[in-house]
Amino acid sequence: MNEKPRFDAEPLNLPQGLTMPGGDPYDAAVPPIYQTSLFLFDSYRELEDVFAGRSPKPIYSRGDNPTVMLLEEKLAAMEGAEAARAFSSGMAAIAASVLAFVKPGDRIVTVHHVYSDAFRFFEKVLKRFGVLVDYIDGSDTQAMLAALPGARLAYLENPTSMVFAMQDLKAIAESARQHGVVTIVDNSWATPLYQNPLALGIDLVIHAASKYLGGQSDTVAGLVAGSKELIGAINREIYPYTGAKLSPFEAWLVLRNLETLPFRMRHHHEAGLAVAHWLKDQDSVTQVFHPAFSGHKGLAGFKGFGGLFSFEVAENIDIPAFVDALKLVRIGVSWGGPESLVVPVKAAMSISPETNVFVRFGVSPRTIRLNVGIHSSQDIIADLQQALQKAG
Ligand SMILES: *Cc1c(COP(=O)(O)O)cnc(C)c1O
Repeated sequence: MNEKPRFDAEPLNLPQGLTMPGGDPYDAAVPPIYQTSLFLFDSYRELEDVFAGRSPKPIYSRGDNPTVMLLEEKLAAMEGAEAARAFSSGMAAIAASVLAFVKPGDRIVTVHHVYSDAFRFFEKVLKRFGVLVDYIDGSDTQAMLAALPGARLAYLENPTSMVFAMQDLKAIAESARQHGVVTIVDNSWATPLYQNPLALGIDLVIHAASKYLGGQSDTVAGLVAGSKELIGAINREIYPYTGAKLSPFEAWLVLRNLETLPFRMRHHHEAGLAVAHWLKDQDSVTQVFHPAFSGHKGLAGFKGFGGLFSFEVAENIDIPAFVDALKLVRIGVSWGGPESLVVPVKAAMSISPETNVFVRFGVSPRTIRLNVGIHSSQDIIADLQQALQKAG
């Protein structure tokens, strides 16, 4: 067991010197918001050159918009990718990235405890269009490798949602490449600062920018990054036709908040581990689901941890009473922003039970997810302590 943090949480520097496509005549320190749907052309010749792809000028903001392009360029640099595409949400990025590569009769491999709405997308949409979906325990590398031959795509999330189970991305990527399987990893939890799936051989990286990249609970956004070839396929096969583009203003919000990502992540890493270690010592807590405690081989790919994890309370804890007794820690579903938040699985068990990921993969209703926000670990611990006492 890795009882002590053993990761260098030193933040990487954000890429410097990226400028607006086409440049900014005023050298604005902060990029302008190009709040326009269309771009004008001086001549027939210029229009024809842009249509023919001989000139990169944006045409219409459902396709390209300079503020959004800057965010795409920045995320690509942070992930060590050739290209990236922004979307109106993390789910739009997930749906497009999968739909660009599958057709009826194909099989995809994914993991238990995948993000709840990614699970519903597989169950409700992919299956309806004749795509087979194999759910594998992603922490079992042999089982993952055995499922890859013949699959079209492997959809991973490291760590997974709610129980934070790990995968060995390097081993899976290597085998997937041999079998011609496209690999996608949801990297929202670790951010490009703490995990770089592309460097481990993965093909495409997804971010729910609504979480840490946005970091301020004020926007919903998504991104996918990878090679020019694969991002090109997403652009060609699906992106313009589903219309799930990111607005220039929301791209600007994410760009602004990226500036503080290294500082925020260092706090989430440290405070998250401190709270997780404290919870582990409590009699009223039976289990803490934090990757640091997993002892999994996939840990080698992490440079640090997110501040989102979960724990299971003992039978004697009245869960509604515990949740209601919290004061600093609020009740809410998202994560990655300044708020410290809880989500009790018990309350989520009733959501469409036939496609409920917690029911399907057997998450205990005594599990509570905790988002360690920008509060100090001492303040969060004090709040958890008084609430556990009241509810016990
Ligand atoms: C929130 C979340 C998503 C979906 O992002 P949205 O922007 O809400 O669509 C995907 N993956 C993970 C791990 C998430 O937590």
